[in-house]
Amino acid sequence: MEKIKMTTPLVEMDGDEMTRVIWKMIKDILLTPYIDLKTEYYDLGLKHRNETDDKVTIDSAEATKKYGVAVKCATITPNAARVEEYNLKEMWKSPNGTIRAILDGTVFRTPIIVKGITPYIPTWIKPITIARHAYGDVYKNTEMQVPEGSKCELVCTDKNGNETRSLIHEFKGSSGIIQGLHNVDSSIKSFARSCFNFALELKQDIWFASKDTISKKYDHRFKDIFAEIYETEYKEKFESAGIEYFYTLIDDAVARVIRSEGGYIWACKNYDGDVMSDMVATAYGSLAMMTSVLVSPEGIYEYEAAHGTVQRHYYKYLKGEKTSTNSVATLFAWTGALRKRGELDGITELCSFADKLEKATIETIEDGVMTGDLALLSTLPDKRKVDTEEFLLEINERLKKMM
Ligand code: NAP
Ligand code: MG
Repeated sequence: MEKIKMTTPLVEMDGDEMTRVIWKMIKDILLTPYIDLKTEYYDLGLKHRNETDDKVTIDSAEATKKYGVAVKCATITPNAARVEEYNLKEMWKSPNGTIRAILDGTVFRTPIIVKGITPYIPTWIKPITIARHAYGDVYKNTEMQVPEGSKCELVCTDKNGNETRSLIHEFKGSSGIIQGLHNVDSSIKSFARSCFNFALELKQDIWFASKDTISKKYDHRFKDIFAEIYETEYKEKFESAGIEYFYTLIDDAVARVIRSEGGYIWACKNYDGDVMSDMVATAYGSLAMMTSVLVSPEGIYEYEAAHGTVQRHYYKYLKGEKTSTNSVATLFAWTGALRKRGELDGITELCSFADKLEKATIETIEDGVMTGDLALLSTLPDKRKVDTEEFLLEINERLKKMM
């Protein structure tokens, strides 16, 4: 069989620990035998980030802007323990944070659904994709504890020096707490465009919710920006795609989500997204079955797994022990990126290869062959727990038959 040719390179961001091991296995077992893989490689492993003073992360994000599609392995976000473990020059920032800031993107997380792993909410038969606005609000707050007798105000000084004041609270009879939040229109607009673009891409409805009835200026601004961008830039495209933009209050959204069957994108403000993404991920069963894609407002895509580097498994692997680490989310990051590259470059073989590889993966699990994390959850009558490599070899057996 002739290998599938690529024209434009994929930006390949290698990473750390067990996912770095899986990364190579996926390429060797499932990709390079079938594709003349063309990538521009960036080693985001912590050692190399440290050697380059983290310049490699910035370079990889710039390359993603240039080529439009990237695939990323999970990476370590350094903390004090990692500074010691890797003898780091500095506690480098989270690569995901750096890349997201450069691409100005929104992260969309989607669960991969397989037979035998029933969501805790059994009506959820289709995936719910969560989009989290990753800027501002309580994550960039200023807060104070204030003594009894204090008078607290919001003060805005405009560029001409004019002050506008608004009373927060007069603390008569009790001490208390105050908090200042902000967001910026440009970031909310980028968020809205990323969401609408991704809804068109998935051909799924998009829901957005806030608390605009209580927060008549702050949350209402989110609602207005979404509505305005939808009306002026997306309404027609949505109508011809047969999908819908739906706005409601956050508490109503929560109630509707629980009753729904899934199959839509749920755009959330920063805090809602933080909380709801954990709820949704848990309800679908496993973080190892959750894909993640960063979408910029210009339509640049970076695919990855939602989980981390699976450190505990890596230490076992280093000791020469077999691990049973789930590679599905990392594999789907590759298929997502290859399919997108295929679409952009008009290489249909690449798209159909991605489809087949995903199908072979799901078939493997539904045949009862799975890694330990899924074997614990699966309700299939006959299941066999396999190690990390064996799982990929099993997928390849099924893939071969489809080629
Ligand atoms: P983690 O790597 O997601 O793993 C947490 C636990 O979840 C694992 O110990 C494992 O449980 C289970 N798990 C996660 N993925 C799995 C998989 N593919 N197969 C089987 N089990 C899986 O999170 P962490 O241990 O908190 O973080 C490790 C490192 O990852 C940290 O340095 C963190 O900075 C980094 N991280 C990176 C990203 C990213 O690059 N996007 C995201 C999150 C965290 P058991 O051990 O019980 O088997
Ligand atoms: Mg959270």
